[in-house]
Amino acid sequence: MSTTGISEWKQRAPYRVHETGDGFNVRYEANCHCGKVKYQLSRQEPLDSKLCHCTTCQTQHAAPFQWAAIFHKDDINFTNGHHNLEWYDPTEKSIEHKLPCKVRCSYCHSPIMDEGRNMILLFPSLIHLKTDQDKAFFKPRCHMFYGQRVMDVPDGLPKWSGLSNESDLIEDSPPNMVKEFERKREEERKTKFEKGQNQ
Ligand SMILES: [Zn+2]
Ligand SMILES: [Zn+2]
Repeated sequence: MSTTGISEWKQRAPYRVHETGDGFNVRYEANCHCGKVKYQLSRQEPLDSKLCHCTTCQTQHAAPFQWAAIFHKDDINFTNGHHNLEWYDPTEKSIEHKLPCKVRCSYCHSPIMDEGRNMILLFPSLIHLKTDQDKAFFKPRCHMFYGQRVMDVPDGLPKWSGLSNESDLIEDSPPNMVKEFERKREEERKTKFEKGQNQ
């Protein structure tokens, strides 16, 4: 990687360091295990919070599943050690900074986030959630890639066999949600079929 490349990513979200007075309101603070990487969040409630059971997450986190909360890249501010980050591109199996990629602390190797093209997936286990209300904001809303699970989690939450909203709702997913999803799918099938006939 060239030197210009390195300085360039530092100017862009999510790595751009916010300065005092630029409107970044600190709502949460977080750090990796060793404390070299520290960040702040300005958004109160994640855009989504999910448990992912895919085999990549199982391997990457050495855990039965991964807990991730979705944020915009502008919602985060690395206050310490963003030069202590290392990247991993799971598609190419390379350590280049190519999106989407996995981001870790280069010292203690705690997973920090998955950086996508538009969003970041943060790991709430690193965030200091102080009140019950904060914990409620981050509470997982669904399971995804539940078809690849190593253990059952019968918690009544929606469970997608693969990607959320793009696969099937399985196991103990809420029955009314399953029904509604089937209805929507049938509607889409009909629209597609009618469009096909008109061409
Ligand atoms: Zn660390
Ligand atoms: Zn996954």
